[in-house]
Amino acid sequence: MISLPRPTFDTPAESFDVTSASEGCDGEAKPGVLAFRDFVIERLGGADLGIVRACGVGKPSDHHEGRAWDWGLNAASDDDQERAASLFDWLLTDDAELWRRAGLRYVIWDSMLWSTKAGRWAKYQGPNPHTDHVHISLGWAGALAETSLYSWLDVAPPNPPPVDPITPPGGSASDGSWLLWAALAGLTGVAAIGLAAPQKSRSRLGKPGRL
Ligand SMILES: [Zn+2]
Repeated sequence: MISLPRPTFDTPAESFDVTSASEGCDGEAKPGVLAFRDFVIERLGGADLGIVRACGVGKPSDHHEGRAWDWGLNAASDDDQERAASLFDWLLTDDAELWRRAGLRYVIWDSMLWSTKAGRWAKYQGPNPHTDHVHISLGWAGALAETSLYSWLDVAPPNPPPVDPITPPGGSASDGSWLLWAALAGLTGVAAIGLAAPQKSRSRLGKPGRL
């Protein structure tokens, strides 16, 4: 099993997300999905097979709303099976705490399905056995980075629109006005990082006390 950092939180985990299947199509990858993808690829490897599917292509899918990601793995590879198992273990430990904090809906891998509805692994009966990728669907709150895992991944929800931390109004990222600006913007987590390490390139995963 590949070890993943286990965050701690001040707030209780969210309930299971019961967002229904996709009904629309906007062709835009959502910020929570992007952050989840980046974390998984950075920590576990594997391939990024994409988030967005063009409107009108295939059956209705969470890919059309940019809230599903395909993680490229090979089910015939022991290493890739370990990668998948490591992620699922991380998500599903402790009554699926991190699954709920990530706002996931369901995953499909190697002819198996874990869904929020069922709350357990079940045989996947669809025509595609998903032996060359893991399909990961998110509910709307997770997709929009509104659930608690995304504060740990350092993603701000898109509304209000994210601001550029490199060029704050009235000052640079490395002087005092940056801290004032960050505090005014309500970016308390970012301000704390600014106090500790005001350089422009901050690590999403290297924050002390959170791993
Ligand atoms: Zn997919």
